[in-house]
Amino acid sequence: MLGEPLPVELANTSYAVRGRAREGLATTGDLDAWLETVRPRFPRSDPFPAASEEDLTSARDLRDTIRALVRSAVGGERPAPAVVEALNAHVRGAARWKELTWDGDAPAVRACGTGPAVALALAAIAEQAVELFTGPRLADLRACHAPGCVLFFVKDHHRREWCSAGCGNRARAARHYEQVRDR
Ligand SMILES: [Zn+2]
Repeated sequence: MLGEPLPVELANTSYAVRGRAREGLATTGDLDAWLETVRPRFPRSDPFPAASEEDLTSARDLRDTIRALVRSAVGGERPAPAVVEALNAHVRGAARWKELTWDGDAPAVRACGTGPAVALALAAIAEQAVELFTGPRLADLRACHAPGCVLFFVKDHHRREWCSAGCGNRARAARHYEQVRDR
C-alpha cells in the first residue's frame, strides 16, 4: 500500500518483481487480505465476508479496467469507449447511496447500499475512479518509470518522481550504473 486513492491501490495489485509481472489477486484469499488492509477507508467496522470466485473475477476486471484508464490518462490519450463502459458497469454493479445520521452531536453520513458487501466495496472503488478521472488529481496521476516498475501513483509533492523510496533508489542506482558504464 502506497497511501494512494483506492482505485490506484487496486490498480497496483498488478505489479512486477525484477521486471516480471505478478498477480496480487491470484486467489480469493488475496482479495480478502487486500480488502482487510483497505477496510479502514470504508465506513465499515466489521471485517468483509469472504470473497467469492465471482468477486475475485470482478475485482480483477475492475483492476484491469482502471489500469487501462490510468494508462490512457497518463499518456494523454482518450481510452476506448468499451473501457469507459466497463468502468461504468462496475459503478452500476451495486446500488449505493448516502443517508443522514444525527445520533451524536454532529450530523454524519451513513453509507448505504443493497447487495453483498464485497460487491458494494468494488462498486464504491469504481465510483471513486470516476471521481479521480474527473477531479483535480487527474493531472497528478503518474506511472512510475523506475526500471521494471509498473505501478501508478498520484504525485502529491512537486519533487516526487517515483511510486516509492525503493523505486527512487533503484532508479538512481541504474542511472549511476549507466553513467559509469558510458565513461
Ligand atoms: Zn515504482
